[in-house]
Amino acid sequence: LVSRDNHPERSTVRVGGVPIGPDTVTLIAGPCAVETPEQTLEAALMAKAAGATLLRGGAYKPRTSPYAFQGLGEAGLRILADVREETGLPVVTEVVDADDVELVASYADMLQVGTRNAQNFALLQAVGASGRPVMLKRGMSATIEEWLMAAEYVAQRGNLDIVLCERGIRTFETATRNTLDVSAVPLAQRLSHLPVIVDPSHSGGHRDLVLPLTRAAIAAGADGVIIDVHPHPEQALCDGPQALVDGDLDELARVMERFPPLL
Ligand code: PEP
Repeated sequence: LVSRDNHPERSTVRVGGVPIGPDTVTLIAGPCAVETPEQTLEAALMAKAAGATLLRGGAYKPRTSPYAFQGLGEAGLRILADVREETGLPVVTEVVDADDVELVASYADMLQVGTRNAQNFALLQAVGASGRPVMLKRGMSATIEEWLMAAEYVAQRGNLDIVLCERGIRTFETATRNTLDVSAVPLAQRLSHLPVIVDPSHSGGHRDLVLPLTRAAIAAGADGVIIDVHPHPEQALCDGPQALVDGDLDELARVMERFPPLL
């Protein structure tokens, strides 16, 4: 279903009216985690000023340590819905449990499946049945074939509104959080008709790598990028070191100016 063999035209997925597909580069930005209403609104306004047309923000955070901030849950979803109301930006947020899909889908415009759940087949089937567009991150150790087969689980439930997201893979290199596999962009686009975006924040794991990796993603043909921004990253409860701050956003806006949103 996701193979390009039977579907030679590349697909466009619409999220609350915003297209992600071959004719533009869509910027999705916002905080890694929803922490407070003020922080989420500030981050959303920063994102919008930089050219974002979709807001990201995690209310359910799949953390490596069970002692790390796990997200605000439904209270975070309510904050995201309020910020959507205020900014007009449709919301992309992660769901980590098949039992939460209905609840998250009642607030979100797009459901994100993260790298740690990239082969959680029950979750993939549940988001496939949700009626919402899905952003499927590549598993940190998944081959491209495994990633596309994960997308097939979503598609099999009747949902072809799937966007693939390359977010870096695990290699021997420790200087970056993950190694951005730029080649995954043209490869996945050749094998599948689905849009392919890149997460330069979770790949590099460092603020100063985000803009160079964004340029690399766009040069490789990515249909969008998803970027963490935070008004006060030193106080962030999650992934502060990779969040862009106000001072970085003029440069991001300049990169995005070349790709005016097709609304
Ligand atoms: C995220 O985007 O919030 C996230 C946790 O990303 P990943 O699943 O790629 O680690």
